[in-house]
Amino acid sequence: MAKINENYLKLPGSYLFSVINQKVDAFTKKNPGKELIRMGIGDVTRPLVPSVIGAMKDAVEEMGTFEGFHGYGPEQGYDFLRDLIVENDYRKKGIDIQADEVFVSDGAKSDTGNIGDIFSADNKVAVCDPVYPVYVDTNAMSGRAGSYDKESGHWSELIYMECSAENGFLPPIPDKHADLIYLCFPNNPTGMAADRDYLKKWVDYAISEGSVILFDSAYETFITQPEIPHSIFEIEGAKKCAVEFRSFSKTAGFTGNRCAYTVIPHELVIDGARVNSLWNRRHTTKFNGVPYIVQRGAAAVYGEQGQREIKEVIKYYLNNAEIIRGGLAKAGLTVYGGVNAPYIWAKTPDNMPSWDFFDRLLEEANVITTPGVGFGPSGEGYIRFTAFGDADKTKEAVERIIKIL
Ligand code: PLP
Repeated sequence: MAKINENYLKLPGSYLFSVINQKVDAFTKKNPGKELIRMGIGDVTRPLVPSVIGAMKDAVEEMGTFEGFHGYGPEQGYDFLRDLIVENDYRKKGIDIQADEVFVSDGAKSDTGNIGDIFSADNKVAVCDPVYPVYVDTNAMSGRAGSYDKESGHWSELIYMECSAENGFLPPIPDKHADLIYLCFPNNPTGMAADRDYLKKWVDYAISEGSVILFDSAYETFITQPEIPHSIFEIEGAKKCAVEFRSFSKTAGFTGNRCAYTVIPHELVIDGARVNSLWNRRHTTKFNGVPYIVQRGAAAVYGEQGQREIKEVIKYYLNNAEIIRGGLAKAGLTVYGGVNAPYIWAKTPDNMPSWDFFDRLLEEANVITTPGVGFGPSGEGYIRFTAFGDADKTKEAVERIIKIL
Protein backbone atom coordinates (compact mmCIF):
# COMPACT_ATOMS: atom_id res chain seq x y z
CA MET A 1 0.00 0.00 0.00
CA ALA A 2 1.23 3.46 -0.82
CA LYS A 3 2.23 5.62 2.11
CA ILE A 4 2.14 9.35 2.20
CA ASN A 5 4.62 11.77 3.71
CA GLU A 6 3.11 11.97 7.20
CA ASN A 7 4.61 15.39 7.77
CA TYR A 8 1.89 16.77 5.51
CA LEU A 9 -0.76 15.53 7.93
CA LYS A 10 0.77 17.61 10.71
CA LEU A 11 0.39 20.88 8.81
CA PRO A 12 -2.21 23.26 10.17
CA GLY A 13 -4.58 24.68 7.54
CA SER A 14 -3.40 27.75 5.69
CA TYR A 15 -6.19 29.93 7.02
CA LEU A 16 -4.93 33.48 6.92
CA PHE A 17 -6.01 34.67 3.48
CA SER A 18 -9.05 32.40 3.32
CA VAL A 19 -10.35 33.80 6.63
CA ILE A 20 -9.69 37.32 5.33
CA ASN A 21 -11.62 36.51 2.14
CA GLN A 22 -14.52 35.03 4.12
CA LYS A 23 -14.73 38.14 6.29
CA VAL A 24 -14.56 40.40 3.24
CA ASP A 25 -17.25 38.36 1.42
CA ALA A 26 -19.55 38.47 4.45
CA PHE A 27 -19.04 42.23 4.78
CA THR A 28 -19.72 42.84 1.06
CA LYS A 29 -22.93 40.80 1.20
CA LYS A 30 -24.18 42.85 4.14
CA ASN A 31 -23.00 46.19 2.69
CA PRO A 32 -23.30 45.90 -1.09
CA GLY A 33 -22.67 49.58 -1.90
CA LYS A 34 -19.48 50.04 0.15
CA GLU A 35 -16.20 50.51 -1.72
CA LEU A 36 -13.43 48.48 -0.09
CA ILE A 37 -9.76 49.44 -0.40
CA ARG A 38 -7.29 46.56 -0.37
CA MET A 39 -4.06 46.98 1.56
CA GLY A 40 -3.71 43.35 2.50
CA ILE A 41 -2.06 41.07 -0.02
CA GLY A 42 1.58 41.70 -0.93
CA ASP A 43 1.13 41.73 -4.68
CA VAL A 44 2.11 44.47 -7.10
CA THR A 45 -0.55 46.41 -9.01
CA ARG A 46 1.37 48.59 -11.51
CA PRO A 47 1.66 47.13 -15.03
CA LEU A 48 4.92 45.83 -16.49
CA VAL A 49 7.17 48.66 -17.72
CA PRO A 50 7.45 49.37 -21.49
CA SER A 51 11.05 48.13 -21.85
CA VAL A 52 10.07 44.73 -20.40
CA ILE A 53 7.00 44.53 -22.64
CA GLY A 54 9.11 45.47 -25.69
CA ALA A 55 11.74 42.83 -24.93
CA MET A 56 9.09 40.16 -24.35
CA LYS A 57 7.27 41.05 -27.59
CA ASP A 58 10.55 40.79 -29.52
CA ALA A 59 11.22 37.43 -27.86
CA VAL A 60 7.76 36.18 -28.88
CA GLU A 61 8.49 37.18 -32.49
CA GLU A 62 11.87 35.46 -32.31
CA MET A 63 10.25 32.28 -31.05
CA GLY A 64 8.09 32.24 -34.20
CA THR A 65 11.12 31.84 -36.47
CA PHE A 66 13.36 28.83 -37.12
CA GLU A 67 16.47 30.85 -36.31
CA GLY A 68 15.12 32.40 -33.14
CA PHE A 69 13.16 29.47 -31.73
CA HIS A 70 14.21 28.33 -28.25
CA GLY A 71 13.27 24.96 -26.82
CA TYR A 72 14.57 23.80 -23.45
CA GLY A 73 17.08 26.33 -22.23
CA PRO A 74 19.82 25.86 -19.66
CA GLU A 75 18.07 25.00 -16.38
CA GLN A 76 20.21 27.52 -14.50
CA GLY A 77 19.19 30.37 -16.81
CA TYR A 78 20.50 31.82 -20.06
CA ASP A 79 24.01 33.28 -19.98
CA PHE A 80 22.70 36.66 -21.14
CA LEU A 81 20.65 36.99 -17.94
CA ARG A 82 23.15 35.44 -15.52
CA ASP A 83 25.87 37.77 -16.86
CA LEU A 84 23.64 40.82 -16.42
CA ILE A 85 22.76 39.78 -12.86
CA VAL A 86 26.40 39.28 -11.92
CA GLU A 87 27.52 42.56 -13.50
CA ASN A 88 24.72 44.81 -12.26
CA ASP A 89 23.61 43.35 -8.96
CA TYR A 90 27.05 42.34 -7.68
CA ARG A 91 30.25 43.38 -9.51
CA LYS A 92 29.21 47.03 -9.95
CA LYS A 93 28.71 47.05 -6.18
CA GLY A 94 32.13 45.56 -5.52
CA ILE A 95 30.92 42.00 -4.85
CA ASP A 96 32.73 39.28 -6.74
CA ILE A 97 30.12 36.71 -7.83
CA GLN A 98 30.58 34.38 -10.81
CA ALA A 99 27.83 33.59 -13.34
CA ASP A 100 27.85 29.91 -12.36
CA GLU A 101 27.03 30.90 -8.80
CA VAL A 102 23.67 32.29 -10.04
CA PHE A 103 20.64 30.01 -10.57
CA VAL A 104 17.70 31.62 -12.37
CA SER A 105 14.37 30.22 -11.24
CA ASP A 106 10.62 30.74 -11.30
CA GLY A 107 10.48 32.40 -7.89
CA ALA A 108 12.02 33.12 -4.52
CA LYS A 109 9.06 31.24 -3.06
CA SER A 110 10.10 28.07 -4.90
CA ASP A 111 13.77 28.50 -4.04
CA THR A 112 13.37 29.37 -0.36
CA GLY A 113 10.89 26.49 -0.17
CA ASN A 114 13.06 23.97 -2.03
CA ILE A 115 16.51 24.78 -0.63
CA GLY A 116 15.83 22.44 2.30
CA ASP A 117 16.01 19.48 -0.13
CA ILE A 118 19.80 19.54 -0.04
CA PHE A 119 20.12 19.72 3.75
CA SER A 120 19.71 16.90 6.24
CA ALA A 121 16.37 16.37 7.97
CA ASP A 122 18.34 16.53 11.26
CA ASN A 123 19.30 20.17 10.83
CA LYS A 124 18.16 22.59 13.48
CA VAL A 125 16.31 25.46 11.85
CA ALA A 126 15.93 29.02 13.14
CA VAL A 127 13.22 31.36 11.87
CA CYS A 128 11.96 34.78 12.86
CA ASP A 129 8.56 35.21 14.49
CA PRO A 130 6.63 36.77 12.75
CA VAL A 131 7.81 35.17 9.51
CA TYR A 132 7.11 34.63 5.81
CA PRO A 133 5.27 31.30 6.29
CA VAL A 134 7.00 29.44 3.43
CA TYR A 135 10.17 28.90 5.51
CA VAL A 136 8.23 27.25 8.34
CA ASP A 137 5.81 25.16 6.29
CA THR A 138 8.46 23.74 3.95
CA ASN A 139 10.61 22.67 6.89
CA ALA A 140 7.54 21.06 8.44
CA MET A 141 6.93 19.21 5.15
CA SER A 142 10.44 17.78 5.21
CA GLY A 143 10.20 16.65 8.83
CA ARG A 144 12.54 19.22 10.33
CA ALA A 145 9.94 21.07 12.38
CA GLY A 146 8.70 18.32 14.75
CA SER A 147 5.08 18.65 15.84
CA TYR A 148 2.75 21.62 15.70
CA ASP A 149 1.29 23.03 18.89
CA LYS A 150 -2.01 24.76 18.21
CA GLU A 151 -1.92 26.56 21.52
CA SER A 152 1.41 28.34 21.00
CA GLY A 153 1.29 28.36 17.19
CA HIS A 154 4.86 27.00 17.17
CA TRP A 155 6.55 23.82 15.90
CA SER A 156 8.41 21.83 18.55
CA GLU A 157 11.78 21.56 16.77
CA LEU A 158 12.12 25.03 15.28
CA ILE A 159 14.03 27.81 16.99
CA TYR A 160 11.82 30.91 16.95
CA MET A 161 13.53 34.27 17.12
CA GLU A 162 11.06 36.79 18.43
CA CYS A 163 10.98 40.09 16.57
CA SER A 164 9.54 42.78 18.78
CA ALA A 165 9.48 46.54 19.14
CA GLU A 166 11.99 46.08 22.01
CA ASN A 167 14.63 44.57 19.73
CA GLY A 168 13.72 46.81 16.78
CA PHE A 169 12.41 43.71 14.98
CA LEU A 170 16.02 42.51 14.65
CA PRO A 171 16.14 39.42 16.86
CA PRO A 172 19.34 38.82 18.81
CA ILE A 173 21.66 35.97 17.82
CA PRO A 174 20.36 32.83 19.58
CA ASP A 175 22.34 31.48 22.51
CA LYS A 176 21.99 27.96 21.11
CA HIS A 177 23.13 26.24 17.95
CA ALA A 178 21.15 26.54 14.71
CA ASP A 179 22.22 24.87 11.45
CA LEU A 180 19.99 26.72 9.00
CA ILE A 181 18.97 30.31 9.65
CA TYR A 182 16.32 32.02 7.55
CA LEU A 183 16.73 35.78 7.45
CA CYS A 184 14.64 38.15 5.35
CA PHE A 185 15.71 41.80 5.05
CA PRO A 186 14.04 44.10 4.22
CA ASN A 187 11.51 42.05 6.09
CA ASN A 188 8.10 40.75 5.24
CA PRO A 189 5.95 41.35 7.27
CA THR A 190 7.59 43.98 9.53
CA GLY A 191 9.09 46.13 6.75
CA MET A 192 12.27 46.57 8.83
CA ALA A 193 15.77 46.44 7.33
CA ALA A 194 19.07 45.24 8.82
CA ASP A 195 22.31 47.21 8.81
CA ARG A 196 25.84 45.90 8.25
CA ASP A 197 26.77 45.55 11.92
CA TYR A 198 23.74 43.41 12.59
CA LEU A 199 24.32 41.16 9.59
CA LYS A 200 28.02 40.87 10.45
CA LYS A 201 27.02 39.35 13.80
CA TRP A 202 25.04 36.70 11.94
CA VAL A 203 27.89 35.96 9.54
CA ASP A 204 30.32 35.59 12.47
CA TYR A 205 27.86 33.30 14.24
CA ALA A 206 27.28 31.17 11.13
CA ILE A 207 31.01 30.79 10.50
CA SER A 208 31.76 29.83 14.09
CA GLU A 209 28.81 27.39 14.28
CA GLY A 210 29.21 25.93 10.77
CA SER A 211 25.67 27.11 9.94
CA VAL A 212 24.13 28.37 6.72
CA ILE A 213 22.28 31.68 6.46
CA LEU A 214 19.42 31.54 3.95
CA PHE A 215 19.07 35.21 3.12
CA ASP A 216 15.87 36.31 1.41
CA SER A 217 16.49 39.63 -0.25
CA ALA A 218 13.28 39.76 -2.30
CA TYR A 219 12.67 43.39 -1.26
CA GLU A 220 16.20 44.81 -1.62
CA THR A 221 15.16 47.19 -4.36
CA PHE A 222 13.04 49.14 -1.86
CA ILE A 223 16.08 50.07 0.24
CA THR A 224 16.46 53.85 0.44
CA GLN A 225 19.00 54.29 3.27
CA PRO A 226 22.65 54.04 2.25
CA GLU A 227 23.70 52.27 5.46
CA ILE A 228 21.49 49.29 4.63
CA PRO A 229 23.22 46.55 2.61
CA HIS A 230 21.36 45.18 -0.42
CA SER A 231 23.11 41.82 -0.33
CA ILE A 232 24.37 39.54 2.43
CA PHE A 233 27.53 39.22 0.32
CA GLU A 234 28.39 42.82 1.17
CA ILE A 235 29.34 41.38 4.56
CA GLU A 236 32.85 40.00 4.87
CA GLY A 237 32.89 36.22 5.19
CA ALA A 238 29.31 35.75 3.93
CA LYS A 239 30.40 33.78 0.88
CA LYS A 240 31.52 31.03 3.24
CA CYS A 241 28.17 30.76 5.02
CA ALA A 242 25.26 32.21 3.04
CA VAL A 243 22.85 31.64 0.18
CA GLU A 244 20.98 34.65 -1.22
CA PHE A 245 17.51 34.68 -2.80
CA ARG A 246 16.37 37.53 -5.03
CA SER A 247 13.37 38.04 -7.25
CA PHE A 248 12.10 40.18 -10.12
CA SER A 249 8.61 39.91 -8.58
CA LYS A 250 8.59 43.08 -6.52
CA THR A 251 11.63 44.65 -8.23
CA ALA A 252 10.04 44.73 -11.67
CA GLY A 253 6.41 43.67 -11.28
CA PHE A 254 7.07 40.04 -12.27
CA THR A 255 4.71 38.37 -9.77
CA GLY A 256 2.63 37.10 -12.71
CA ASN A 257 5.65 36.61 -14.97
CA ARG A 258 7.79 34.44 -12.65
CA CYS A 259 11.52 35.06 -12.58
CA ALA A 260 13.93 35.08 -9.64
CA TYR A 261 17.44 33.91 -8.84
CA THR A 262 19.46 32.30 -6.10
CA VAL A 263 23.17 32.88 -5.51
CA ILE A 264 25.27 30.08 -4.01
CA PRO A 265 28.98 30.90 -3.81
CA HIS A 266 31.51 28.15 -4.55
CA GLU A 267 33.12 28.95 -1.21
CA LEU A 268 30.08 27.62 0.66
CA VAL A 269 31.22 24.15 1.68
CA ILE A 270 29.25 22.14 4.24
CA ASP A 271 30.23 18.69 5.44
CA GLY A 272 32.93 18.66 2.74
CA ALA A 273 30.32 19.20 -0.02
CA ARG A 274 29.98 22.26 -2.22
CA VAL A 275 26.43 23.52 -1.75
CA ASN A 276 26.56 25.09 -5.24
CA SER A 277 27.14 21.65 -6.83
CA LEU A 278 24.35 20.04 -4.83
CA TRP A 279 21.88 22.78 -5.74
CA ASN A 280 22.99 22.53 -9.37
CA ARG A 281 22.22 18.80 -9.23
CA ARG A 282 18.82 19.42 -7.67
CA HIS A 283 17.91 22.34 -9.93
CA THR A 284 18.85 20.55 -13.16
CA THR A 285 16.95 17.44 -12.06
CA LYS A 286 13.74 19.04 -10.85
CA PHE A 287 13.49 22.27 -12.86
CA ASN A 288 13.47 22.91 -16.60
CA GLY A 289 14.22 26.60 -16.74
CA VAL A 290 12.36 29.90 -16.85
CA PRO A 291 10.77 30.62 -20.27
CA TYR A 292 13.07 32.37 -22.76
CA ILE A 293 10.48 35.14 -23.23
CA VAL A 294 10.37 35.85 -19.49
CA GLN A 295 14.17 35.84 -19.17
CA ARG A 296 14.39 38.35 -22.06
CA GLY A 297 11.91 40.51 -20.13
CA ALA A 298 14.04 40.23 -16.98
CA ALA A 299 17.18 41.14 -18.93
CA ALA A 300 15.49 44.35 -20.14
CA VAL A 301 15.23 45.48 -16.51
CA TYR A 302 19.03 46.01 -16.53
CA GLY A 303 19.01 48.37 -19.55
CA GLU A 304 19.21 52.13 -19.06
CA GLN A 305 15.53 52.59 -19.94
CA GLY A 306 14.50 49.54 -17.90
CA GLN A 307 16.29 50.88 -14.83
CA ARG A 308 14.69 54.28 -15.20
CA GLU A 309 11.24 52.75 -15.59
CA ILE A 310 11.40 50.29 -12.70
CA LYS A 311 12.83 52.97 -10.40
CA GLU A 312 9.77 55.12 -11.18
CA VAL A 313 7.48 52.27 -10.15
CA ILE A 314 9.41 51.60 -6.93
CA LYS A 315 9.25 55.34 -6.15
CA TYR A 316 5.48 55.20 -6.65
CA TYR A 317 5.12 52.36 -4.11
CA LEU A 318 7.54 54.00 -1.65
CA ASN A 319 5.53 57.20 -1.90
CA ASN A 320 2.45 55.19 -0.91
CA ALA A 321 4.45 53.76 1.99
CA GLU A 322 5.29 57.29 3.15
CA ILE A 323 1.62 58.29 2.98
CA ILE A 324 0.61 55.23 5.00
CA ARG A 325 3.35 55.78 7.60
CA GLY A 326 2.54 59.46 8.03
CA GLY A 327 -1.21 58.93 8.07
CA LEU A 328 -1.18 56.11 10.59
CA ALA A 329 1.14 58.07 12.86
CA LYS A 330 -1.27 61.02 12.60
CA ALA A 331 -4.05 58.64 13.60
CA GLY A 332 -2.06 57.90 16.74
CA LEU A 333 -0.65 54.50 15.81
CA THR A 334 2.96 53.45 16.34
CA VAL A 335 4.35 52.46 12.95
CA TYR A 336 7.38 50.53 11.78
CA GLY A 337 8.83 49.71 8.37
CA GLY A 338 7.86 51.38 5.12
CA VAL A 339 11.18 53.23 4.70
CA ASN A 340 13.19 50.45 3.04
CA ALA A 341 10.24 48.17 2.29
CA PRO A 342 6.72 48.19 0.84
CA TYR A 343 5.26 47.00 4.17
CA ILE A 344 4.14 49.05 7.14
CA TRP A 345 3.79 47.24 10.44
CA ALA A 346 1.55 49.09 12.88
CA LYS A 347 0.86 48.44 16.55
CA THR A 348 -2.86 48.10 17.17
CA PRO A 349 -4.43 50.73 19.45
CA ASP A 350 -4.67 49.76 23.13
CA ASN A 351 -3.09 46.36 22.45
CA MET A 352 -6.20 45.28 20.60
CA PRO A 353 -5.85 41.75 19.16
CA SER A 354 -4.83 41.80 15.47
CA TRP A 355 -8.08 40.23 14.24
CA ASP A 356 -10.23 42.68 16.21
CA PHE A 357 -8.40 45.62 14.68
CA PHE A 358 -8.64 43.99 11.24
CA ASP A 359 -12.45 43.76 11.74
CA ARG A 360 -12.67 47.36 12.89
CA LEU A 361 -10.72 48.64 9.87
CA LEU A 362 -12.88 46.52 7.56
CA GLU A 363 -16.21 47.48 9.07
CA GLU A 364 -15.62 51.14 9.92
CA ALA A 365 -13.00 52.30 7.38
CA ASN A 366 -13.75 49.67 4.72
CA VAL A 367 -10.03 48.96 4.40
CA ILE A 368 -8.64 45.43 4.05
CA THR A 369 -5.36 44.74 5.86
CA THR A 370 -3.51 41.65 7.13
CA PRO A 371 -3.57 40.78 10.85
CA GLY A 372 -0.04 40.51 12.19
CA VAL A 373 -0.82 37.34 14.14
CA GLY A 374 -1.27 35.58 10.78
CA PHE A 375 2.53 35.66 10.41
CA GLY A 376 3.22 34.05 13.77
CA PRO A 377 2.31 34.46 17.46
CA SER A 378 4.70 37.40 17.92
CA GLY A 379 2.71 39.30 15.30
CA GLU A 380 -0.23 39.48 17.72
CA GLY A 381 -1.16 43.09 18.40
CA TYR A 382 0.11 44.26 15.00
CA ILE A 383 -1.40 44.83 11.59
CA ARG A 384 0.34 44.86 8.17
CA PHE A 385 -0.41 47.41 5.47
CA THR A 386 1.02 47.08 1.97
CA ALA A 387 2.08 49.99 -0.21
CA PHE A 388 1.41 48.17 -3.49
CA GLY A 389 -1.94 49.83 -4.17
CA ASP A 390 -3.13 52.74 -6.27
CA ALA A 391 -1.86 56.10 -4.92
CA ASP A 392 -5.30 57.80 -4.78
CA LYS A 393 -6.90 54.81 -3.09
CA THR A 394 -4.03 54.62 -0.61
CA LYS A 395 -4.59 58.28 0.30
CA GLU A 396 -8.29 57.72 0.67
CA ALA A 397 -7.77 54.62 2.84
CA VAL A 398 -5.45 56.54 5.13
CA GLU A 399 -7.94 59.42 5.43
CA ARG A 400 -10.69 56.97 6.32
CA ILE A 401 -8.50 55.39 9.01
CA ILE A 402 -7.59 58.78 10.47
CA LYS A 403 -11.30 59.61 10.62
CA ILE A 404 -12.31 56.46 12.50
CA LEU A 405 -9.42 56.55 14.95
N1 PLP B 1 10.13 36.02 -0.14
C1 PLP B 1 9.37 36.87 0.56
C2 PLP B 1 9.85 37.35 1.87
C3 PLP B 1 8.12 37.28 0.06
O1 PLP B 1 7.37 38.12 0.77
C4 PLP B 1 7.68 36.78 -1.18
C5 PLP B 1 6.38 37.16 -1.74
O2 PLP B 1 5.54 37.79 -1.21
C6 PLP B 1 8.51 35.90 -1.86
C7 PLP B 1 9.72 35.53 -1.31
C8 PLP B 1 8.05 35.30 -3.15
O3 PLP B 1 8.74 35.77 -4.23
P1 PLP B 1 8.49 35.19 -5.68
O4 PLP B 1 7.34 35.94 -6.29
O5 PLP B 1 9.79 35.43 -6.39
O6 PLP B 1 8.19 33.73 -5.56
